[in-house]
Amino acid sequence: MSYDTNNIFARILRGEIPCTKVYEDDHVLAFNDINPQAPVHILVIPKGAYVSWTDFAAGASDAEMAALTRAAGRVAEAAGLAEGGYRVLCNTGADGGQEVDHLHLHVIGGRPLGRMLPRA
Ligand code: AMP
Repeated sequence: MSYDTNNIFARILRGEIPCTKVYEDDHVLAFNDINPQAPVHILVIPKGAYVSWTDFAAGASDAEMAALTRAAGRVAEAAGLAEGGYRVLCNTGADGGQEVDHLHLHVIGGRPLGRMLPRA
């Protein structure tokens, strides 16, 4: 899939749509999810134009990868999740349930999150 420069997160990165920013550096932006699934629900996205985890894993630089990983840990810690625990997830593609085609990590916590997946 080619990258759609008008996806919602691309528009947030360009400042065309507002977000509640919680962290930013040269490679990463993190902001609150508009429809939180838990008391803390933060999206951590690369500034580069990557459709998905697959795309990012194949094409991102080491610096971009390190920045995304570190940012996810940092925002979780800053949100007070480190001690009690939390979940980092990345929905990828149709079967993964990805709705926005710009790579994003969900950092979710603030309550017990239960099983990773419902039983099939
Ligand atoms: P996914 O299903 O993994 O692609 O997740 C997309 C996420 O983006 C969902 O949790 C949405 O609630 C969230 N989302 C969609 N639009 C916005 C927005 N404008 N600001 C913040 N989060 C958004």
